[in-house]
Amino acid sequence: AREKEHINVAMIGHVDHGKSTLIGRLLYDAGEIPEHLIEKYRKEAQEKGKATFEFAWVMDKLKEERERGITIDVAHRKFETDKYIVTIVDCPGHRDFIKNMITGASQADAAILVVDVVDCVQAQTKEHVFLARTLGINQLIVAINKMDRVNYDQKAFEKCKEAVAKLIKLVGYKPEEVPFIPVSAYYGDNVFKKSDKMPWYNGPTIREALDLLKPPEKLIDKPLRIPIQDVYSISGVGTVPVGRVESGVLRVGDKVIFEPPGVVGEVKSIEMHHEPIKEAYPGDNIGFNVRGVSKNDIRRGDVAGHPDNPPTVARDFTAQIVVLQHPTAITVGYTPVVHAHTAQVACRFVELQKKIDPRTGAVKEENPQFLKTGDAAVVKLEPTRPMVIERVKDIPPLGRFAVRDMGMTVAAGMVLDVTPRK
Ligand code: GDP
Repeated sequence: AREKEHINVAMIGHVDHGKSTLIGRLLYDAGEIPEHLIEKYRKEAQEKGKATFEFAWVMDKLKEERERGITIDVAHRKFETDKYIVTIVDCPGHRDFIKNMITGASQADAAILVVDVVDCVQAQTKEHVFLARTLGINQLIVAINKMDRVNYDQKAFEKCKEAVAKLIKLVGYKPEEVPFIPVSAYYGDNVFKKSDKMPWYNGPTIREALDLLKPPEKLIDKPLRIPIQDVYSISGVGTVPVGRVESGVLRVGDKVIFEPPGVVGEVKSIEMHHEPIKEAYPGDNIGFNVRGVSKNDIRRGDVAGHPDNPPTVARDFTAQIVVLQHPTAITVGYTPVVHAHTAQVACRFVELQKKIDPRTGAVKEENPQFLKTGDAAVVKLEPTRPMVIERVKDIPPLGRFAVRDMGMTVAAGMVLDVTPRK
């Protein structure tokens, strides 16, 4: 059987509207709560004289253990639908969410917005929707939750749906393309299984809506990019750069260009795990023998691509950053080291364009004088020597970076735009 595709989904929404419960319900109905835990809880339920063993009991137990500081790895928060292997990634309430999104540790392909049908749109509902949009999460599913609280009433659902539609439209989502699903995470209505309590609803369940999501764009369809980790010169073979294919496909016989030096060569052979291969794909760690390039022409931090779509060498680039820790303040002129793919290049802050509210994406201040820990901002950076970097929109793995100084990661960023050299 073909392997299912992976998709990362963020669970967003106001506190207490049911995010954890919905995650628990998805994992439970998908059969992903570890058997030994279920068994343990089943026994405890019997001992306490509980007649039936319910999902609620499992959720309570998990919550209790969490409160006692016992973190249970609920099967890595991963479950399967017909089409996808779904991973639930951090939600914006978490401190590390923005950092993880920006550094790509957990880029979300879609978000499920959980809204309590009674309380409907609240402060964090707005914040999270803005944040999801700002961070480029373009697909949304809205779960109008706790339908059991309103006796599964259609009018209550429609009323809240209208308010949420208005909100998401405001930030640029198209409500007509977003499924609004009446659910009860607690009782499992319309989550994995279609509910028989809402005959008035004909749309998809959460599980079905997940299957309707567009798969993440594949790096295989992007231009070739291989950041170089090392370069060897092997007698009888020649120059052998080593690196991981981040995007595109490399084939034996291809012409390749290395940027920033701009040298061109021809691929004579490719090797992975000491075996010759004909083609290399994203994720493959390879060594490839290139004719026409000497060991001294290229080095770690250079990027190989095809000559008709070469890696971008930046004169400067505009980026959205989040300041993670800085003892004082970042001002124009600050020149820390930017780590992007395999390159490490000192880059100067030449413009602080605007400070943005990391929780809403709204502009807080134009041309701020300085940035402190916790600030998010759009800035312009200028590499002090030639460097390859790409727009995160074009080639995500080459568009994210860490800013390091004084032995620590000062900021994380993603590239919005690049001014090419020349
Ligand atoms: P979170 O803060 O968004 O993660 O919310 P939780 O999942 O912790 O849920 C907050 C409270 O709402 C808990 O007491 C849940 O049991 C309750 N809850 C969650 N989903 C439902 C639901 O579908 N129906 C009802 N009646 N209560 C729910």
